[in-house]
Order: sequence, then C-alpha cells, then structure tokens
Amino acid sequence: MSLKTRFLSIAAALIVIAAGASWLAYQKLSEDLIERWGRQVAEIQVRYDSARLLQSLEREIGLARQMADSSALLSWAADPDNPAREKTAIREMESFRSNFRDNSYFVALRENGRYYFNNENDEFAGKQFRYVLNPEDPDDAWFYQLIDEGRDFHLNVNPDTELGVTKLWIDVLMRNSEKQIVGMVGTGLNLDTFLQDIVDINQEGITTLFVDYNGAIQLYRDRNYIDFGSVIKPEGQKNTVDLLFDAPEDKQKILGMLQLLKKSSGKAGYVESGFVTVDGREHLAGVAFLPAIGWFEITLLDLNTLLPKSYLWPLVAVFIVSLLITLIVFHLIIQSRIVKPIVGLEDAVEKVRKGSFVLPRLDKPDNEIGRLVDHFEKMTESLRDSTRELENKVTLRTDELARLARIDPLTNLKNRRGMDEVLEEEIQRADRLGNDFGVLWLDIDHFKLINDQLGHQAGDEILCRVALWLKAGVRPYDHPGRWGGDEFVILLSPCDPATLEHIARRICEGVEQESRKTGTPVTVSLGGYLSKPGDNMDTVLRNADQALYRAKDNGRNQICITLPDETGINPA
Ligand code: GH3
Ligand code: MG
Repeated sequence: MSLKTRFLSIAAALIVIAAGASWLAYQKLSEDLIERWGRQVAEIQVRYDSARLLQSLEREIGLARQMADSSALLSWAADPDNPAREKTAIREMESFRSNFRDNSYFVALRENGRYYFNNENDEFAGKQFRYVLNPEDPDDAWFYQLIDEGRDFHLNVNPDTELGVTKLWIDVLMRNSEKQIVGMVGTGLNLDTFLQDIVDINQEGITTLFVDYNGAIQLYRDRNYIDFGSVIKPEGQKNTVDLLFDAPEDKQKILGMLQLLKKSSGKAGYVESGFVTVDGREHLAGVAFLPAIGWFEITLLDLNTLLPKSYLWPLVAVFIVSLLITLIVFHLIIQSRIVKPIVGLEDAVEKVRKGSFVLPRLDKPDNEIGRLVDHFEKMTESLRDSTRELENKVTLRTDELARLARIDPLTNLKNRRGMDEVLEEEIQRADRLGNDFGVLWLDIDHFKLINDQLGHQAGDEILCRVALWLKAGVRPYDHPGRWGGDEFVILLSPCDPATLEHIARRICEGVEQESRKTGTPVTVSLGGYLSKPGDNMDTVLRNADQALYRAKDNGRNQICITLPDETGINPA
C-alpha cells in the first residue's frame, strides 16, 4: 500500500470515527433540543387551549349563574304551580335564551321535577315545559345525582334522548335564600360545533382533550372515546384517559400526572409533561388542571410531525460537507507537504543508486522532509565530487600503468610494446604524409661474455649505460627503446640516408668511446633501414634486423644500412 493510500485510509478512518461520534452527539443533542423545545411548546399549548376553552365557557357559565340567581325564577321555584309566576319566569328564561351562545336553555325544578327547554329555533315557544323528570329513569339520573353531590356548577357531556341532541351541558344549581337547592338551570352547547371550535382545531401534530376530575374523557375529537354522562356512571365503567394509551407505563404516567396536578391545584399555570406513545408514535403530553371547571386539559404533541428531525438535516449536510472538505484539504496538504516530496526523493535516490548524479528539481517543503531532501542533495553533491575525484585518480593511475607497461624498468627506455606502438604510428604517418623515417637495430657485441666474466649485475649496469649513451646519441624527438636482451631499436623521424648513417655512427662511436672511460669497453653493432611509404612493420623490422645481421657477420662494432630498394653495407 502506498504512503498516500495509507495516509488517506488513516484520515478516512479517523473522519469516519469522528463522524460516528458526531452523529451520536447530534442525535443526543437534537433529541434534548427537541424535548426541551417540546416541553415549552406543550406548556404554552396547554395554557392556550385551556384559555380558549375557558373563554368560550366563562360567558355561558356567568349567564347561567345569573339565570340561577334570577329573582323571577327563584320566586317561581318557591311556588312552581303558580301560573303567573311561571309565565314571568318563562319570559325571563326566554330573555336569557337570546343571550346564550347556543340560544338554548333548560330549567328543571326540584319540587315538581318539571323540565323546561327551548332551542335556537324557538321550537318550543309556548310549550317550554317538555316533560317531568323521573328519578327512576336512567336518562334523568344526572339531575338527581348533581343535586345529591350539591356542586353548584357542573359541566356534563350527555345526549338528551328526549330532545334528541348531544350537548355539553352547563349545569348551575338554583338555591333559595336559605341555600336550599330548588332547581337547576343551564344551557347546552352543541357538542359537534364545540368540538370543532375548541378541540378539533386542525393543528397538525397537536391533539387536545379535556378530562374531568376523575380522568373521564369529556372533550375529544373522536366521539367514541367521550365518556357521555360521566356523572351517573360508577367508577370503573368510565372512559378514562388511560384508554388512549397502549403501554401500561404510559397509562400510569398520565394518571400519575393527574394526581400530581390535583395535589398542586392551587398553583396557577402549573403544567406537567412527559413522553407517551399514542397510535405507535411518540408524543409529548402536557397536562394542566383547570380549577374553574374542575377539568384537566391534556395536549399531545407529536414532535416528529411538529419538528421532524429532517429539519436539522441541513446541519448534518453542512457537517458532512465540512468533513469532506477537511478530507480533501488534508489530502492536498499530505500530498504536497509529504507524499510528493517523498516520491521525488525516492526517484532521486534510485537515480543516484544507478550512478546518475544529475538530480531533477526536488520539492523542499518547510518541514523535516524538506530538510531531509536538502541533506540528500548535499550528500549527492559530495558523493558526485568524491566519485569524480576517484575517477580522475583511476584515470591517472591507469595512464601511469599504461605508461609503465610501455617502459623497460631496467633502462627506462620504451620497451618492445612501446616501440611497437610508436613504430606503428610512424608507419601510418609516413604513409599519410609520404615522409621517410629511419630505424636502427642495435646489439651489444659479445654480451654473453660480459655476463659470464663480470656477472649478470655488471651486465645490467652495462645495459643501463648503453641506454644512456644511446639517448645522448639521438635527437630529442627520436625514440630509442630496448627491444629485449642486449638489443635496442631506435626510431628516427624525420630521416634521410645521411642522417641515418650519421646518427648510427655517432651511437656506435659514442658507445665505444664512453665505455672505454668506464674501464669496461663495449662495442655495439647497428643495422639501419630507411623506410619508404608503403612499408609495413614487418618489412621495416626485417630489413633493419638483416642489416644488423650483416654488421655482425662483417665482424661487429660497425653499422650496416639498407636504403630503400637497395642493400648497402657500410662498414664502420
Ligand atoms: P654477439 O656478438 O653475437 O651478439 O654475441 P653475444 O654474446 O652478445 O650473443 P647474444 O647477443 O646472442 O647474447 C645475448 C646475451 O645477453 C644472452 C643473455 O645471457 C644476455 N642477456 C639477455 N638479457 C640480459 C639481461 O637483462 N641482463 C644481463 N645481464 N644479461 C642479459
Ligand atoms: Mg649481443
């Protein structure tokens, strides 16, 4: 795996971990946020719904109370069979009817059980007396129950089978000056309209319901749940609020909240809240007690509808985009500051390893890698310098070796290999330029004898001396060399017959004279050959050798020269 891939994998892994942690944090935070917001909304909504209900009812309750306190009605209740009082009372009731929101009213007298009613259509004008309540009739039980309870005011959701209407009844007891209950008055609000106005108000995600002091559902958008005629039902048969919840713990929770609110009923605006599940969806329930009517108001907020988590998705999108940008920026920084310089350095190291010291321009970021690259460049420079120095030394040494390979160690003259080379060059130049050159082949006379008589060491010294005299006898640009044993070859260039002979003679005489001074006289024989263009090495050497042979043959200590196209013997 490349460095780049590794860095990216590590970065991606870290980012995934960070994203996971952030996602969990986001979930927790959003839940907390939504819950906190939800509780506040629930409280506000509960107060708002309660206020709406009370506002609608307060006027009706006030009017019903006024009606219950009406002197015309009270005096009639004291003498219910008095037609004059009944007439006055009915006139009074009708004046109240036009004020009630529903334009309806009822009056029931305790003494004779007579029930009076008229509705918005004035349907019962002149026949407001509808029927006589029967303590034995379950439909009339509410009247006797409320009187038994002695509560001055009561709300009751009940169908009136006699009248064929379902209403939210506002019942107020009539009491005479001795505070005895003499009857009951009130009005009914059409349940459907009331539910529509107050409860089923089409706020998406918000469900409002009202339950009575015992938890029996009084107002709810689904009429099937409403506990009609709660007042006369025994406990346990009522449609209580817990029916709305599936989970036992939710039922407990709601009933527990009702209990708490009952205890703190004195605190105005106090709201309890908690999470419950309704129809498989989590809701936040807010509950408040309405002391004015003795009911509880419950608001259920479907938080997923009111504030779906998808509202917060732009946040998640911003987060993900930030992560991606971070990854890209990280990648670019790693790429330019680390990976690219390292890859460049790796290529450069490979080049140096293969022997090339010419480095391309390397990236040098301002960090450890940049400094490493810098050190590497300096190291390469010194490596290049020392390699060059070494190569120069090797060249010099090789040249020296090559030179030594062409030098005779005893006499310091060129050896046979050296002479071969200069002869070869000279033959080619003579060919090219048409020059003549001369070759002398020299052999010490009776050298074996010297060796035998004076020893090999003395022989060597004589060889060295002959070499010196030979050098002294030729021109600076001539090439004397030791061919082997006691034989020497001299290349003379340029040359002509006279020069060839002159130099041969000078050498021959020089050796003889100089050796005599040393006490060990030595003579030499020389064969000479003046070349002509077109001669090859073999011809040149053979002719010189033959001339020497002749000089030896003629008695030694003499020169013999062969000119082109001629064989001449010139004794010394
Ligand atoms: P000639 O006049 O016919 O040349 O007689 P010569 O005795 O010189 O015979 P030749 O040239 O054939 O003998 C050469 C001798 O040189 C033979 C050998 O022992 C001797 N020699 C060859 N190389 C060396 C050397 O390096 N040092 C010494 N001291 N003697 C050498
Ligand atoms: Mg000899």
